[in-house]
Amino acid sequence: MSKKITLLGSTGSIGTQSLDVIRMQGYTVFGLAAYSNIDLLLKQIVEFCPQYVVVVESNAAQKLGTQLLGLKNPPQLMVGKEALVELAALQGADIVLNAVVGIAGLAATLAAIESGKDVALANKESLVTGGHLVTDAVKKHGVKLLPVDSEHSAIFQCLQDVHSAKALDKVILTASGGPFFGKTINELQNVTKADALKHPNWSMGAKITIDSATLMNKGLELIEAAWLFNKPCDKIDIVVQRQSIIHSMVQFDDNSILAQLGVPDMRIPIQYALTYPERYKSPAPVLDFKTLKSITFDEADEETFRCLKACKKSLKKGGLASCAANGANEQAVELFLQDKIKFLDIGRVVESMVDHIQVKPDYTLAEVFDCDKYAREYVLSQI
Ligand code: NDP
Ligand code: MG
Repeated sequence: MSKKITLLGSTGSIGTQSLDVIRMQGYTVFGLAAYSNIDLLLKQIVEFCPQYVVVVESNAAQKLGTQLLGLKNPPQLMVGKEALVELAALQGADIVLNAVVGIAGLAATLAAIESGKDVALANKESLVTGGHLVTDAVKKHGVKLLPVDSEHSAIFQCLQDVHSAKALDKVILTASGGPFFGKTINELQNVTKADALKHPNWSMGAKITIDSATLMNKGLELIEAAWLFNKPCDKIDIVVQRQSIIHSMVQFDDNSILAQLGVPDMRIPIQYALTYPERYKSPAPVLDFKTLKSITFDEADEETFRCLKACKKSLKKGGLASCAANGANEQAVELFLQDKIKFLDIGRVVESMVDHIQVKPDYTLAEVFDCDKYAREYVLSQI
């Protein structure tokens, strides 16, 4: 069946891989959105002919506006961060795939849900910062929230048998361990951003690649899993699986375990979110067990990688503690990428933020954004 898709964050790592899937499935693109990469966005517009396009950054939007004049059937151009939210809510798309990075994706996720559309969610920060708003909205509007993150897609795939799903005891999240697996605090003192940007298995955007090196990504995924599968922190285990072949597992009440395997290629989970509940041919290669040889397991070192510890603490603390952890991390990663702080400072400030923040159980969207701002300012005051 042909579907109409709105793709937010189309110029990123997930965005471009989503377009590979959309091309292969012959789906229609209703809307595309990016921050400022108009060169790539223009190529995407020419190929996929969307009805609407959003550019968040206004100078880039102005330039694109001029370039669109040369097209036969140009899309309607919308500008600014409010336009991202408007596009997410526009009637005409069957599903919104949110592949924006950071808390910048939250309002659009909520808008898509509130307008009655299913959401394929790559933007894990939506659930980390506003988990209770997002899950309440999903219930209220009766839409589907389909995970794109490979681990959560794996868990979701393992839970398709509704009878077993009722007996879910534990979620077992796998982690690659990132480029610094096995390193001591001493060895991490002077690692550079070039070292941190070299991920062993996945090619991703800069922010999530740093998050993988600090294990913040696994911490964010722990929180994401808690919201998606309604499990407390002590029912979510983390296991390092260096080859990224087992994408995650579920353990049932009878101690039986199901796992989802495949090559590390995001086009598999992206496609499952878009074609759900059907499965079709994928552009991703098959897993070759003859060349794989072994699958290994290790423990995650949360004493060295403090971000993971901080995220666990934030999940137990509840309220906006996870939002504060995320805001502190977004600010810290930005500073690290500008060479203004060291690698280990990221974990230090994220944990300090979580220890420091006062929380109450409920919150509004305005309070989420206030908390995010507060966390960023907190980090800037600590360096
Ligand atoms: P990228 O940095 O590669 O891409 C981010 C996309 O979001 C780009 O299209 C970018 O536009 C756009 N964007 C950036 N800032 C804003 C903003 N303020 N408002 C609107 N759009 C914005 O990130 P990834 O594709 O790697 O990650 C996207 C999301 O998916 C993240 O939440 C990440 O955690 C999650 N994810 C990613 C995986 C991966 O393999 N990459 C795996 C699992 C989850 P522009 O190009 O113009 O800057
Ligand atoms: Mg993941």
